[in-house]
Amino acid sequence: MVTEDKPKITDSEWEVMRVVWTLRQATSKDICEVLQVKKDWKQSTTKTFIGRLVKKGMLNTRSEGKRFLYTAVVNEDESLKAAKESFLDNVCNKQVGKTITKMIAEATLTHEDIRLLEDMIAEKKKEAVDDITCNCVPGQCKCKMHC
Ligand SMILES: [Zn+2]
Repeated sequence: MVTEDKPKITDSEWEVMRVVWTLRQATSKDICEVLQVKKDWKQSTTKTFIGRLVKKGMLNTRSEGKRFLYTAVVNEDESLKAAKESFLDNVCNKQVGKTITKMIAEATLTHEDIRLLEDMIAEKKKEAVDDITCNCVPGQCKCKMHC
């Protein structure tokens, strides 16, 4: 079942998706093995998350002999984009820049990553604005109090 509105997935379900994205197709045994190591989840726990993802339409399943193979319905890039957008939707427009800066400050980056960031920032400088309008309702954001 495909709906226009992409279903939200939890952090736990994200762990399962990462395994499927990495392996491209995975049996529940493959997924359980990885998450047993990473999260110490029991098979039944991992299988519950797999079942939810199938229900949400995030995983496809097909049988091959005795086993079931899972594949991802959406790719990792699309999902990351959706997750990033919904994350920044929860922040005041005025705070987006500071939030991104904080995320970069906390990330471990390669020299190549930093080169990419520098190029992108040089481009951004050309279209920088002096002020950004707050998009919040009063009571959910401090900037409404002093404007
Ligand atoms: Zn605001």
